[in-house]
Amino acid sequence: MAKNVVLLGPPGAGKGTQAERISKKYGLVQLSTGDMLREAVKKGTPLGMQAKSYMDKGELVPDDVVIGIVREKLKELKNAPGVLFDGFPRTVEQAKALDSMLEEEELSPVMVIQMEVDDSEIIERLTGRRVCEKCGANYHVKFNPPQKNGTCDACGGPLVQRADDNEETVRNRLKVYHQSTSPLVGYYREAGKLRVVGGSGSIDEVFSRIDSILSSV
Ligand code: AMP
Repeated sequence: MAKNVVLLGPPGAGKGTQAERISKKYGLVQLSTGDMLREAVKKGTPLGMQAKSYMDKGELVPDDVVIGIVREKLKELKNAPGVLFDGFPRTVEQAKALDSMLEEEELSPVMVIQMEVDDSEIIERLTGRRVCEKCGANYHVKFNPPQKNGTCDACGGPLVQRADDNEETVRNRLKVYHQSTSPLVGYYREAGKLRVVGGSGSIDEVFSRIDSILSSV
């Protein structure tokens, strides 16, 4: 049976990192709205120009815009073995839209894995995060430094800080998460779709918590 999975959690919980590993193991297609929006900003498309000011401030891009790009993408992914949603949905309105889009496309409903990490840990993780401009690999100045300062181990590309990873914007992203995204926990719990894992610990430890849930369904 096709599996559709939502990874829910604050920015910096490690959703992107875990999404990559889970997609690989279960053959799911990763759908990250953050990556799609950053790509649009980089290319300077009308979508990117619309999204940039929200992203730079750590605010959410309006629901209708994000729901529109997910709808388009889901049509392309109709025959995928399953989709792993990373960073979407982020509001109850997006979650409701996702439920109906999946139903319309006759795809299976989602199961949701919430990754829990304290705010203080999030701030340390995100402000120290560095990303390779060329291949997108993630590093951390303290927890996962590259061998050569400022250079990607994998491809030699330059490491940069994401525009929204400065402390002020990170604090705002957390505020937005608590206000707009955490109500999704109740929404999915009531629907019986929610599973919760601790998001602290090594990448391997967190992965094995998620893996033991997914391998049992
Ligand atoms: P992320 O890489 O998931 O942390 O997303 C980076 C930024 O993109 C967020 O701070 C938002 O501005 C925007 N964004 C990504 N996904 C969504 C979404 N589902 N709804 C609204 N805005 C989003």
